[in-house]
Amino acid sequence: MTDKFTGSFTQQDPIPQAGIDAALAVMQHGRLHRYNTSGDEIAEAALIEQEFAAQTGAKYCLAVASGGYAMTTALRACGVGHGDTVLTNAFTLAPVPGAIAAVGGKPIFVGVTEDLVIDLGDLAGKLHQARVLLLSHMRGHICDMTALMDMCNAAGVTVIEDCAHTMGAAWDGVPSGRWGKFGCYSTQTYKHVNSGEGGLLISDDADGMARAIMFSGSYMLFEKHRAAPPPETFAQIKYETPNISGRMDNLRAAILRPQLRDLATQAKRWNDRYAVLADGLTDVTGLKLPYRPAQESFVASSFQFLLLDWDQAKVQDVLQRCAARGVELKWFGGAEPTGFTSRYDSWRYAQSAPMPASDRILAGIIDMRLPLTFSLADCAQIAGIIRAEVSAVFQAA
Ligand SMILES: *Cc1c(COP(=O)(O)O)cnc(C)c1O
Repeated sequence: MTDKFTGSFTQQDPIPQAGIDAALAVMQHGRLHRYNTSGDEIAEAALIEQEFAAQTGAKYCLAVASGGYAMTTALRACGVGHGDTVLTNAFTLAPVPGAIAAVGGKPIFVGVTEDLVIDLGDLAGKLHQARVLLLSHMRGHICDMTALMDMCNAAGVTVIEDCAHTMGAAWDGVPSGRWGKFGCYSTQTYKHVNSGEGGLLISDDADGMARAIMFSGSYMLFEKHRAAPPPETFAQIKYETPNISGRMDNLRAAILRPQLRDLATQAKRWNDRYAVLADGLTDVTGLKLPYRPAQESFVASSFQFLLLDWDQAKVQDVLQRCAARGVELKWFGGAEPTGFTSRYDSWRYAQSAPMPASDRILAGIIDMRLPLTFSLADCAQIAGIIRAEVSAVFQAA
């Protein structure tokens, strides 16, 4: 087989017509700032908060400028400041340790398992080192949340969830983002809903959310929020909390609201594509697919497999052969950070103790985007190409 895949790994679906229409309406009336409303108009940014709170079952929601901003705000609202240590995943993307550094904190990295979730054994040994865990559900893989929460609650460690890849996902029927004190979402182009940039923050904690709203730049207009704690919660907080502007505007909120309504449908489309790839890549010698337990209901906006304990040169060979056939794979084992991919030891502002068990796994993680513009036939073709090239390189002496 020498066929070549010609699709684009970075081409997302267009914005749904309802989003385009809503965005045009906002531009026509010109009131893009969330607190710029006319009469009893309710801003798009206030509506998305109300709707996303209802969708996740959270009491409160705040729409912000990015996923990274949602995380820094959650950290600040949990009192993390200069010099504080924060536990987080060694397998994640740069904005996660970056959020910790942004508030003056110091990340302490926790290892990754072969199933690409946080290593609870490693976490157990490190829980005494911090008051907060910024848990990244990296690439949509969700760990045993019941076990993790039990451990963190017993140790008095507050959990903040990075749900950039788990919007619409759940563990044991409870939405991702609803386990920790805060759930942080990104609405950046490569995530599950697309407004270019943007973020959402959810919580049931009245005090924490009041602080988050003040941080986000609400001035004294917090009563315009519709998924916020009651005004009395702000009585002291409004005086104590600095404004660190990072609001979402009405244009982005307008683009996002119809997409949030479609989330379940889109999740099914992603998972149909994932199933075709997983089917096509079972029983390939040398290739391991992460195990996904029945409690994990995921949204497969990307696909990972492992070439565990492979020679680095052979992994490179697979990547090159796949690239030559139009299949763009990313590798977490590369010596140098490239594109969107970097590793805990390339974040040199956050020195870490060596993590040999995680290094072994990171060195084998191959990662692929799964945009919804791919058809099921595209996914079958991609699986065929990966299967053929992995097998060819594996068999070569
Ligand atoms: C994209 C991403 C974020 C942050 O999102 P931005 O909106 O780009 O700031 C956080 N965590 C992970 C794992 C991400 O991939």
